[in-house]
Amino acid sequence: MAQYPPIMKDLPAFLYGGDYNPEQWLHQKEIWKKDMELAQGAGINTLTVGVFSWSALEPREGEYRFEWLDEVMDLLAGHGMKAVLATPSGARPRWMAEKYPEVLRVNGARQRALFGGRHNHCLTSPVYREKVRAINTLLAERYKDHPALGMWHISNEFGGECHCPLCQQAFRSWLKDRYGTIENLNLKWWNSFWSHTYDSFDQIESPSPLGEMGVHGLNLAWKRFTTQQFCDFYAWETEPLKRITPGVPCTANLMQTYEGINYFALGRLLDRSSWDNYPAWTNDRRDADVAARTAFYHDLMRGVCGPKPFMMMESSPTAVNWHAVNRLRTPGLLMLQGLQAVAHGSDSVQYFQFRSGRGGSEKFHGAVVTHAGTDQTRVYREVAQVGRRLQGIAPVLGSAAENKIAVIYDWENRWALRDAQFGINSEEKGYEDAVVAHHVAIAAGGFGVDVIDEACELTGYRIVAGPMTYMLRPGFAEKVDAFVRQGGVYVSTYCSGWVDEEDLTFLGGFPGPLRAVTGVWDEETDALDPTQHNHFTWRGKAYETCDYSAVVHPESAQALAVYENGFYAGAPALTVNAFGQGRCYYIAARTRDDFLRDFYAYIAGQAGVAPLLPGLPFGVSCTQRVGDQGTFLFVMNALPESNAVCLPPCVAVDTGARVEGQYELKPYEVLVLKREGEAR
Ligand SMILES: [Zn+2]
Repeated sequence: MAQYPPIMKDLPAFLYGGDYNPEQWLHQKEIWKKDMELAQGAGINTLTVGVFSWSALEPREGEYRFEWLDEVMDLLAGHGMKAVLATPSGARPRWMAEKYPEVLRVNGARQRALFGGRHNHCLTSPVYREKVRAINTLLAERYKDHPALGMWHISNEFGGECHCPLCQQAFRSWLKDRYGTIENLNLKWWNSFWSHTYDSFDQIESPSPLGEMGVHGLNLAWKRFTTQQFCDFYAWETEPLKRITPGVPCTANLMQTYEGINYFALGRLLDRSSWDNYPAWTNDRRDADVAARTAFYHDLMRGVCGPKPFMMMESSPTAVNWHAVNRLRTPGLLMLQGLQAVAHGSDSVQYFQFRSGRGGSEKFHGAVVTHAGTDQTRVYREVAQVGRRLQGIAPVLGSAAENKIAVIYDWENRWALRDAQFGINSEEKGYEDAVVAHHVAIAAGGFGVDVIDEACELTGYRIVAGPMTYMLRPGFAEKVDAFVRQGGVYVSTYCSGWVDEEDLTFLGGFPGPLRAVTGVWDEETDALDPTQHNHFTWRGKAYETCDYSAVVHPESAQALAVYENGFYAGAPALTVNAFGQGRCYYIAARTRDDFLRDFYAYIAGQAGVAPLLPGLPFGVSCTQRVGDQGTFLFVMNALPESNAVCLPPCVAVDTGARVEGQYELKPYEVLVLKREGEAR
């Protein structure tokens, strides 16, 4: 059992708040005081300030203006609130772009950006790094003893890439470290193809639409390098903060499956992971699917720095302004959105944004306090309800998920799949959807799920699913072997074990190093268009396949189901291999959700993993957190209609009411329960 301390050591509560931009109201500071009262009235205990404040903090080079931030910090402390204080590097001031053009990003076509936008700085520029270091140091020194300082928020939504000459040099130096010699690089990148052989590292350019986009090894190296640059930049930013304010945790807000950064690499550096959650709720039965996919993202964002509690750093209190259709939140949906994060292990519920600005591109993005400036709005009242609810479930704070089933989602594998050309040449070959489908099927059976990558440990799990592990990173196959030998159940699928970490195919038959544990030779892979399907029958029930059908030969494995159509009718669609003390399944085809649900419920039963709550109806999900204060069960109805569940003996954490047996969940209702009197 794991019990974690509160994120902010002197605030033993769920962090509740949002992004606040007082610098937009410097000419109208009477708003600040009112905002503090509105925040308090909604149960808010933290506000995230300073995210894009650089031009207000340093309007001219070396001319600092911290007085306004002093006032804001004092106001927060005076109202019993904490600051999630941001470093301002997410957007830089105009003077810097003018005086030091090297801080401006260069795109793949080698065009340097003009001043504008945000998230637009060069990660390598010594000038930018020096300026960031200077202002971060001043912030840390100024507020190190301030009672409002609770946490550091590093930059904002790290993303993008820079192809400037400084970045090219840094990239070449990174390549030298990784490959040692140019001959080795040529071999690893298969550069004899199309006469791409390099004579020296100095000849290498980052991928560009003007030059090279088709060398998979180069593309992978560039993405790895960019991840490394962000990790290095994060470490650079946090160095003075860690040194001057060692007890104050640092985080960077992530964006679910944003492609450009391997979040498992960045996540290892964070004191807590945090992320920005913007589901496109529909206010109808499709919300069940939205909730199921959001559950995957929560589990992934927990996983990158897990299992300790994470943070939902941003979410919208009502409609956002950037989806294709921006629906308001049906009453009750805000509570579901907030508590779903907590259910998956978040110790915070935070919004973007606390108050709407009058101008700028986010003026119509949902906010706790709208342009009306009052607490007399539906959204404000619902925000206040969530605030009260979070206070009522305080015993859950610091508890953590303890799941027996994990699904693998791996950024480097995804990058390789994006480049690979075979089968269905859709972007990334439907990789994210495939992983989500496995996750959703497992969760639908009432099981908690962790999301890990190939570099994570497998020990401690009973079942690990690795859909489409096309790239096997070093050591991963060995971990799978050991995991299964020691009694674990591993699920592999079509498109697994094709290439190594350099995107070079394995010789001698797929799934390469997984061939022994899977007990199959995967000879060839067919692709089906959307009108085409194959079929198989497993345990008396017929299932349909789509998109991918691998033709496999059982070696030590046993066929559990066979294809029924086409020239490979009779070839196995599903196999199992007894290996050591455990078992390895191979799902040779992409299937529909019905098969995955039935399959995982069956193998979990075989492996002795009991659901947290059996027999969940459509739209209801369940997760568990375990801590010193008990074992907590979250039961969530993502439908705008009632839904009946059967509950074990429990006590509602916020009301103290005993519940057991049949229970009618109201639309979007979330129960937070403490298990009574039974082993978990
Ligand atoms: Zn650059």
